[in-house]
Amino acid sequence: MDFRDRLDRARAATGAAGLDALLISPGADLRYLTGYNAIESERLTCLVVPAAGEPALVVPKLERPAALASPAGGLDLEVLDWAETEDPYGLVTKQLSRTGRRVAVADEMKAVDVFALRAALPDAEQVLAGAVLRPLRLRKAPDEVAALRAAGAAIDRVHARMGEWLRPGRTEREVGADLARAILAEGHRGEEWVVVASGPNGASPHHDLSDRVIEVGDPVVVDIGGTTADGYCSDSTRTYLAGGRPPAGFADYFTVLLAAQLAAVAAVRPGVTAQEVDAAARDVIATAGYGEAFVHRTGHGIGVQTHEEPYLVAGNEQVLEPGMAFSIEPGIYLPGRHGARIEDIVVVTDDGADRLNLRSRELAVL
Ligand code: ZN
Ligand code: ZN
Ligand code: ZN
Repeated sequence: MDFRDRLDRARAATGAAGLDALLISPGADLRYLTGYNAIESERLTCLVVPAAGEPALVVPKLERPAALASPAGGLDLEVLDWAETEDPYGLVTKQLSRTGRRVAVADEMKAVDVFALRAALPDAEQVLAGAVLRPLRLRKAPDEVAALRAAGAAIDRVHARMGEWLRPGRTEREVGADLARAILAEGHRGEEWVVVASGPNGASPHHDLSDRVIEVGDPVVVDIGGTTADGYCSDSTRTYLAGGRPPAGFADYFTVLLAAQLAAVAAVRPGVTAQEVDAAARDVIATAGYGEAFVHRTGHGIGVQTHEEPYLVAGNEQVLEPGMAFSIEPGIYLPGRHGARIEDIVVVTDDGADRLNLRSRELAVL
């Protein structure tokens, strides 16, 4: 991972935006810029990226060893620590060569820290760092695409083993616990996301786990993901049948769903807008009469966060460019009955889309 390059580009973008500095607290932006997965706590950790001058990482003294052990420790960053009785906000402002007119704070910074920095820099206007970092994070560099591809392969290996765990007579929670272990065993470091939605629960897109016992003939929506050691996320959904025959009507709309997913992937190429990809999936579903049952956007960007820009949703005129990575995950949900979703991560190439999830999208009978 070329964090030095990311820091250099962030610094250039900061100057180009007329900002004095980026102030980046723990979260996705800090992971993106330095690889440091800092714990979020009441003690301030803050990366200062001045438009002029070298970046510095302000950390609580007790976090210094962890910061140095992370990739941030290998970046030639000045690491400045503060003891329990010192003022961390003053330490941040000391790193700004200019006496701040405009500083950008991380979108995820806690309000208490935003307000404390405002008090420490009373003359500076605060803006969101997302405007500066979004264009960088949107287009994945080759090292990021490789990390997302490895994450995709890891989650595909978990789906490939679904028959070991998903069967009638077990509860969603039992299956989910096995999946959480398998997500780690197959190449993630954690932060797993596990949805096992059986029978009528399949009609709730973000149902997680319940004590419902899976029955023969249940469609089961399994949406899983995790974060690899490189800090990149996986996210893939398949719909399974727990033996037997699918319930009445299910096969009809599953065919529609599969066609919609394929149509959306086929629509991806540079120059197309995010909303056009959403429309490609939605048109297929609406034409077949299930438009009301597709209750969410077609997809979301993915990188160091599972959900980030670009969002594939009506109204988003973001033009796709090579290197953008996002999910294509149409769903059809019939409340009280059942539902289905198919989700792959794709990366925009020079002339189309590269899928990072390669398992069959057909209904898998276990
Ligand atoms: Zn989701
Ligand atoms: Zn998902
Ligand atoms: Zn997703």
